Amino acid sequence: MIVFDLKCTTGHVFEAWFANTEAFQDQKTRSLLCCPMCGVADVDKAVMAPNVPTKGNQRLETGVAMVSDAPTAAPDMKAMMAKLAEVQAEIIKKSQWVGRDFAQQARAMDAGEMDPVLIHGKTTPDEARELMEDGISVMPLLIPVIPPDKQN
Ligand SMILES: [Zn+2]
Repeated sequence: MIVFDLKCTTGHVFEAWFANTEAFQDQKTRSLLCCPMCGVADVDKAVMAPNVPTKGNQRLETGVAMVSDAPTAAPDMKAMMAKLAEVQAEIIKKSQWVGRDFAQQARAMDAGEMDPVLIHGKTTPDEARELMEDGISVMPLLIPVIPPDKQN
């Protein structure tokens, strides 16, 4: 799934999710897209930020592994989440706590401005959403973490 910023002829900008670029083109060609604010069917991609790192673009092209949320998948999901929590516990042992600098450092590594290392820290839900939308490989921690400055 990829997200595009779309813009209608009236100037409203809104986000829409598509399976891929082709799906967007297909829906646009068939006039299936319309502005949620004024209903105008004449919408197109809004101009994107010009300084998107090339690496991020490549990741968008290859796509992100997604899982459907079918109710029958729930018991398996629970086992998977437990396994993921175990893996995260191992990662955290080698990872550096960066606190509130997490989003900033994750972006710096993605842009190649600093060496990639394992980090964990805190972001706001909005920052986390933006990181994932920008194709930066982060995931929510499933286990409680005590910041080093709170430890005895
Ligand atoms: Zn509109």
